[in-house]
Amino acid sequence: MVKLLKTVSDVDSYLDQYRCRKAKIGFVPTMGCLHSGHLSLVEKALQNSDIAIVSIYVNPSQFGKNEDFSKYPRHPEKDIELLNKLGDTAVFLPDNEEMYLPDHKTWIEVSELSSRLCGQSRKGHFRGVTTIVAKLLNIVQPDLMFMGEKDFQQAVILKKMTADLNYKTKIICCPTVREENGLAMSSRNKYLTLEQKEKAASIYRSLQQAVRDYKQQKISTCKPVINRIISNIEANGGKTDYVEIVDSESLQPVETISSGSRILAAAYFGGTRLIDNIGFD
Ligand code: AMP
Repeated sequence: MVKLLKTVSDVDSYLDQYRCRKAKIGFVPTMGCLHSGHLSLVEKALQNSDIAIVSIYVNPSQFGKNEDFSKYPRHPEKDIELLNKLGDTAVFLPDNEEMYLPDHKTWIEVSELSSRLCGQSRKGHFRGVTTIVAKLLNIVQPDLMFMGEKDFQQAVILKKMTADLNYKTKIICCPTVREENGLAMSSRNKYLTLEQKEKAASIYRSLQQAVRDYKQQKISTCKPVINRIISNIEANGGKTDYVEIVDSESLQPVETISSGSRILAAAYFGGTRLIDNIGFD
């Protein structure tokens, strides 16, 4: 069964019973429109904690002015139905008034990491993410927070934030769940036509090819690898925002691929911005 919590004080009263017996609290922050990727995190939380709490909140401050905040898909009833099938969870479903005071003035920003890659074309996005996650961590005070590798930069930034700000929560990063054709599952895939979904799978296929080339043929100079990925995406009708090969901890670009490198990519298919990434280990 799902226990529905709408306010911060609902969360406190509900979690009190777990906190006082020092039960392990597992937390999965989401924006809802849940798919198998989200559900894999909730399953991990259920396996590794005494209580799994999921937040569903479309956070306005992480969307740019021309982004899809108002049309972002929302169907909390269906989300709750899906969660109900997984077992006993609690869902925190706050409204904007609950999450932001009218005169909200405090922002959390992880410098450098937030301005690169997705931060370049989505100015202020990560500031919104870190601020809301910091607030949610203060509200839920979980032992574990489960995040998807799909949003790799986000996970790196949040790990840095929790370390810098002495949060006790440990972040567990879980593998990306994909459609059959390899496309990373995302709530935004709802914006794509079937044909666009097929073409968008070229992102992951070209990332996989780069890893194969590195492992089988020792191709490790980044520039031509990046160019090949871009050509591949664009041959499938995509418009690349960026493709970078970076050190997976610092997110700094590298010139030569090694086992600690990761390719991060963002591309538009029919106006929908999609992201994906792959490691070389
Ligand atoms: P979102 O609702 O998009 O904010 O995502 C909430 C959490 O689910 C984040 O930690 C994401 O990284 C994770 N997530 C989203 N898509 C996937 C996926 N396809 N596989 C695994 N985790 C995912």
